[in-house]
Amino acid sequence: MSAPETSRNPDNFCYRHPDRQSFVLCQRCLRTICPECQTQMPVGVICPECLRDQQKASGAPRPRRAPRILRAVRSGDSRPLVTYAIIALTAFVFVVTLIPGVGIVVQQSLAMYAPYLYPEFTGTFQPWRLFTVLLVHSGFWHLGLNMLALWMLGSSLEPMLGRLRFLWLYLLSGLGGSVAVALLGFGTPVVGASGAIFGLFGALLVIGRHIGANITGIAVVLGINLVISFLPLITGASGFQVSWQAHIGGLIVGALVGTIYARTRAIRKKRLQVGLLVGTTVVLVALLGVPMAIYG
Ligand SMILES: [Zn+2]
Ligand SMILES: [Zn+2]
Repeated sequence: MSAPETSRNPDNFCYRHPDRQSFVLCQRCLRTICPECQTQMPVGVICPECLRDQQKASGAPRPRRAPRILRAVRSGDSRPLVTYAIIALTAFVFVVTLIPGVGIVVQQSLAMYAPYLYPEFTGTFQPWRLFTVLLVHSGFWHLGLNMLALWMLGSSLEPMLGRLRFLWLYLLSGLGGSVAVALLGFGTPVVGASGAIFGLFGALLVIGRHIGANITGIAVVLGINLVISFLPLITGASGFQVSWQAHIGGLIVGALVGTIYARTRAIRKKRLQVGLLVGTTVVLVALLGVPMAIYG
């Protein structure tokens, strides 16, 4: 997966730590910097040299002191906190579904089942299912494999992208998976975070190629995850399915979002980046109109 000419390109490594690969640019000098070298400024992150220059030039304005929680969210702290939070929330929902009597109700009201998006079919409109499907799993192995993949992918992607962009990627990929289920698996009840996880995989493929990273290891783990996710042992007895439609939809949207991120890294392209993300969301939501034409 690694193109040798790009993996030797110093543009893809922190200029102060040439052994550290990074995706993030100093928004003043546009050199690549690792998480440790980033200081959050109103315009985005800047490198230590630019921070020193700026403080000299303007009588030492300190970097803006945000509230502690915001500092943790945006600082150069490279721990993948959003990844941990998603894993914790997903595991919590799984524990709840183990409670006799309650579990099946929770599963049934959070799973992705496309007819509930169309009141014409069921009389109810439950759009939250597009996203809550990411929280429910059919069994311990289903949960464990997805969370292992999420942990591996999130640990690589979240520090590169930043927390908010990582969360956007996860949610948009999940939405892509759900839209694909509505289009291609209309009457199938679906559970699992796999759509979003395949989106992370797609994004890492695109971004990894872009910065010349070696992502063969992660590709192998995801390949195994893909194979195992089709085995019947984890589809559970509850009738919920692990969905190839969600995998494909998530993968496509994740690769698309990864491409957007890779091509709009500079702060001057931030509005373009947000515009493209919003555009992607609008297109996905619009695609939900298609099943009405097919099945209605
Ligand atoms: Zn700089
Ligand atoms: Zn560095």
